[in-house]
Amino acid sequence: MSVNSKSSIRAEKLRIKGTVQGVGFRPFVFVLAKSEGLTGTVLNDGRGVEAVVEGPSEALERFRTRLLKELPPLASIESVEAEDIPVEGRQDFVILESRSNSVSTVIPADAAVCEACLKELTDKNNRRYRYPFINCTHCGPRYTITAQLPYDRPQTSMKVFPMCPDCLQEYKDPLDRRFHAQPNACDVCGPHVELKDKTGAPVSCEDEIAELLRQIQGGKIAAVKGLGGFHLVCDAANAVAVSELRRRKHRPFKPFAVMTLNDLSASRFVRISEKASKELHSPQAPIVLCPKTNDADRLLPGIAPELNRIGIMMPYTPIHWLLFFEAIGRPEDPDWYKKECDLVLVMTSANAGGEPLVIGNDEAVQKLDGIADLFLTHNRDILIRCDDSVMQQRDQDVQLIRRARGFTPVAVRLPYGGPSVIATGPWLKNTACLTKGDHAFLTQHIGDTDRVSNCRTLARAVEHLSEIFEITPKYIACDLHPDFYSTSLAEELADKYDAELVPVQHHHAHIAAVMAEHGLSEPVLGLALDGVGLGTDNKPWGGELLKVTPEGFERLSSIAPIKMPGADKCAREGWRMAAKIFAENGKTDALEKLAKDVNKPSLRLIAAQANAPETTSLGRLFDAAASMFGICHISSYEGEAPVRLQAASEGRRGQNRADLVEVISGHPNFVRLLLALSEYADKRQAAADFQETLAQVLAKKVITVSEKEQIRKVCLSGGCCLNSLLTQRLRKLLEQQELQVYEGLKVPPNDGGVSLGQAWVVLMRLHSTAKE
Ligand SMILES: [Zn+2]
Ligand SMILES: [Zn+2]
Repeated sequence: MSVNSKSSIRAEKLRIKGTVQGVGFRPFVFVLAKSEGLTGTVLNDGRGVEAVVEGPSEALERFRTRLLKELPPLASIESVEAEDIPVEGRQDFVILESRSNSVSTVIPADAAVCEACLKELTDKNNRRYRYPFINCTHCGPRYTITAQLPYDRPQTSMKVFPMCPDCLQEYKDPLDRRFHAQPNACDVCGPHVELKDKTGAPVSCEDEIAELLRQIQGGKIAAVKGLGGFHLVCDAANAVAVSELRRRKHRPFKPFAVMTLNDLSASRFVRISEKASKELHSPQAPIVLCPKTNDADRLLPGIAPELNRIGIMMPYTPIHWLLFFEAIGRPEDPDWYKKECDLVLVMTSANAGGEPLVIGNDEAVQKLDGIADLFLTHNRDILIRCDDSVMQQRDQDVQLIRRARGFTPVAVRLPYGGPSVIATGPWLKNTACLTKGDHAFLTQHIGDTDRVSNCRTLARAVEHLSEIFEITPKYIACDLHPDFYSTSLAEELADKYDAELVPVQHHHAHIAAVMAEHGLSEPVLGLALDGVGLGTDNKPWGGELLKVTPEGFERLSSIAPIKMPGADKCAREGWRMAAKIFAENGKTDALEKLAKDVNKPSLRLIAAQANAPETTSLGRLFDAAASMFGICHISSYEGEAPVRLQAASEGRRGQNRADLVEVISGHPNFVRLLLALSEYADKRQAAADFQETLAQVLAKKVITVSEKEQIRKVCLSGGCCLNSLLTQRLRKLLEQQELQVYEGLKVPPNDGGVSLGQAWVVLMRLHSTAKE
């Protein structure tokens, strides 16, 4: 670089916002500035990072370009503001202490072990060889060990472990990978693992990891403490252990996620796309549902019965890596983790049937009594409970379907902000959403609020996030349904903050969530394909075509209603709706066969039941179809019937049988189609034809309405949009007519995204009234 004259020397103050604290950002700036021959300072303050750089103007320019391009793995920049300041002849580049009294703005999300740490972990000559808590500024626990801001060791569960001189030196050295790595530790000063038997008594053994693996390979079920909670772990290839785990967890069919060493090892039982692979190996390290190979059920019997996908994940904590390292005999080859490995582990959230994830050591022994044979615990406390995140691989992309570890508390950026809103979400698969300016923070996946313990977790998560981000809401958004726990929580919060309560219709919120994710606030058409949500007419909706504008929504159409004998019972027992349809259409033989299939003497009384509210829910239509086609009569877990219907149709080309769909005053009625398809001998073809026809009929409706309304943007959302066959078909049909299609990809399309939509409905409305 050339410094021709004094006049080309400039100085700038840069204000950098984003995820720039606790992620090695200052050392990165330091190294970058040095390499460009710049002088100046860098420091953390309450708003992010402030850097002062001085030097030749071309070098300053290069510095700014590289700043955006060469970020540390966990950092992300939202904005850089530059301001010219006087040249002072600064001599060196230094990292300054954080400004006192300033609260750091962000807690980073938890991150999977980075490659550098992995190499050290399995390098015999490294001082952290086989140390189960290795981490650095590029990886390790964050959100789940932090009680409050600023994100500093004394505010985390690492506060009880004073660093040894070696660790402290790394922590203080700006050029070290562990500079200000808050959870930094080693075998001398840090946390340790403990192996316990089923009563919680210590197991005496030479090496906890080796013994744990030995017992798992011997067919035992272990509870292993992870980042955001415990996992129940067993050998996925051992059919007896897997079925024993199912028996103990009272979970007959719901699929288990498995952990495998790498793509090569996984390729025996799943097909992984390039995009899915990238996610699996990202710092977020989610579970990804990938299509099974033909060998899958033979290799992993009972893992995902009757389904065509398996959820897989890669090791993401040092303990996980050590199990695989042990399984292949502690090899000395530094590239050992790229080799094929037979070990596949079931890794399922350790909780007792729908309860929140277990996080405490004593709690684990108590609550997993009768489920786990042994426990691997440790003395680094988990402060915030956080499940694994889940994605699904689709033909063209990957879609988040449960947003938790690795993604919480990273904000969703909105196109504009407003006063703070807290939205408390719906009833099932709950999350809450808190906004501050144009940032929307979603809590981790909490679960169904039909349980007191989950309700408590939801309330605590709202409190925690509002504290750490210092949010005082002016508006509280909730569901229309007066009896939901989330609604009464919203009422309490409205009282507490003296804020205005805004109930938002469930499917309106679903569509608004997609708009928020994609930065839309102009009018859109929304196809909400969902289970049940309360409509403005007090009826259960769920197959709706809405027009959503900043001011509100209009219900343009819906599918024709079907009857639900036994009301809420139909959510699990799809055969009830099937019985009603058969009975009303004089299908006596089919009704009798169904009675046999579900083991009831007669279905006539049930079919004639007076308590049979009508619903426009597409989810319920899928449940009825799955039963009528003989694919699934009773769901043992939420969404089982539709997911098995989808699985049954895979590989079949569906026929459009729209000739069997009557459209009565604008509402497509699918009953005649269902009756015709239920007579097919080939239920797989019935499933394929059902979905193809559905896509064709819905697309046609949207296209007609879009011309009338002059709206070209269509948002797809709701729980049924997890069915990628349906959404991909819809997308294609709509795009052929040059409509623009949007879906939830980073925020789940199911009820996990509803809270974001509730908040965005409020902000859009405020913004549009402010403009008037
Ligand atoms: Zn690391
Ligand atoms: Zn140490």
